[in-house]
Amino acid sequence: MKKVNASIITIGDELLIGQTIDTNSAFIAQELNKVGIWVRRRIAVGDVFDDIWKALDEETAASEIVIVTGGLGPTADDITKPLLCQYFGGRLVENEEVLKHIIYLFETIYRRPGPLLDRNRKQAEVPDTCAVLMNERGTAPGMWFTKEVNGIKRIVVSLPGVPFEMKGLIEKQVILRLITEFQTPVILHRTLLTVGVGESMLAEKIKDWEENLPAHIKLAYLPHYGMVRLRLTSLGNEKKGLEEEIGRLFSELKELVKEWLVIDEDLTLPQVVAKLLLKKNQTVGTAESCTGGYIAHLVSRDPGSSNTYKGSVISYDNQVKLELLKVNKETLDTVGAVSEEVVKQMAATALELLKTDYVITTSGILGPDGGTEQKPVGLIWIAIGSKNGIRANHFNFRFDRIRNMEQAAIVALEMLRKEMVKGE
Ligand code: ATP
Repeated sequence: MKKVNASIITIGDELLIGQTIDTNSAFIAQELNKVGIWVRRRIAVGDVFDDIWKALDEETAASEIVIVTGGLGPTADDITKPLLCQYFGGRLVENEEVLKHIIYLFETIYRRPGPLLDRNRKQAEVPDTCAVLMNERGTAPGMWFTKEVNGIKRIVVSLPGVPFEMKGLIEKQVILRLITEFQTPVILHRTLLTVGVGESMLAEKIKDWEENLPAHIKLAYLPHYGMVRLRLTSLGNEKKGLEEEIGRLFSELKELVKEWLVIDEDLTLPQVVAKLLLKKNQTVGTAESCTGGYIAHLVSRDPGSSNTYKGSVISYDNQVKLELLKVNKETLDTVGAVSEEVVKQMAATALELLKTDYVITTSGILGPDGGTEQKPVGLIWIAIGSKNGIRANHFNFRFDRIRNMEQAAIVALEMLRKEMVKGE
């Protein structure tokens, strides 16, 4: 089956200067990939008429599908709509349904007093050469254009830049339309997560197996903070046969990496921990110093986390450690906050206060300042407490502040996971 190619063009000066990180194209690429559409190019261009025009010329010549985000708003720098109108011929006409929706948003949702501004009314104008994609989440509608280039039909979809609005349109309309428009191949993924092994070591271990993979099956190594995800991707036409084949190869892979295998699903470490807690009907809480609530954020960000996460004490300052977590003043004065004794005392009180089955506690020096010869930047103590006792460990990270924090959180969650599966 022929590959269906897509290009993604993201528009905005803010993307080029790094003020906004282009998350739109990553999301769109993932959604296209799920339905077997191959993203061959992702490009970012500024709010410059000629640059956008050139990008459209180049991408419509190369791909059957071109998805554009940004530049649809009511301000002067939003030039995408008039440009598309010119590019595809035709003229701007007011769309009644879009106008009704904009009035509804301003009157009922935003509760903006006074008459609709002209610039907002203009958002209801769309080129008469496109099909309108109603944007339930905002004022700027999506636009669907078709064009023939070299005798082949091309589709250009223009979407708002606001990620929440773009996502709604992609999930609810664009993908559904694309899969009815194109015959796409089947793409299957199987992902597992390993911890405690580097990618080179993994590659060595599975070398022979990897060499014998059929050409339509690809293996990706996705390392991230001491974890490596391995993803098998299979591309073809016939779903049942592909499923059987990838299933067999995935089982072989799991067997080869079993000593480091954490889970054979595409889950993050916080999700793995939550799944284990749920299975055992247990809960976790945190008492965080240097990580400042970051672990709490990780364990509370997925839906359903209230079943397994109960709460936290953010004891960033020693006063909070003393008063809320009942850390001994003498201990603080003698060995200091970044110590085994302190993270263990924090854990003992947190278990009582939070009434959870497990607690995670942290205390460390993330940097860039605050290090000493005995306690350098990057030194972090972490404790895991449960009814089976309190265990602490220390680590010496060598990264910048944010990465030290992220690494500490991952290591802490992995300590908790190990504690939970001990003896299983
Ligand atoms: P609006 O109607 O709000 O003006 P728009 O379609 O004109 O939307 P932009 O003005 O380009 O879009 O961007 C709106 C917001 O969305 C900005 O805050 C911008 O930072 C964010 N944004 C734009 N493009 C991207 C992108 N590719 N990835 C992530 N965020 C983006």
